[in-house]
Amino acid sequence: MLFPGLEPERPVVHWRPLGGLRHGVAATELPRTGQERRTLCGELLNIVDASELDWLAPTCESCWTAALAPRDGDQSE
Ligand SMILES: [Zn+2]
Repeated sequence: MLFPGLEPERPVVHWRPLGGLRHGVAATELPRTGQERRTLCGELLNIVDASELDWLAPTCESCWTAALAPRDGDQSE
């Protein structure tokens, strides 16, 4: 299993390239080209068609951490 801890039947994050990293976007709505979405790490992301090279980019660590965190967890800062 490539990503232990993620439940395949319950996708919570879509991954999209931005600035050389792949960022996570909450999967409440399917990202579509032309949309403006907030990534899990707080960046504003314009959804564009990703090139093959984009998918080779490393995953944004902040987004990855956020994606693995329990959604109903108490994350007071
Ligand atoms: Zn990110």
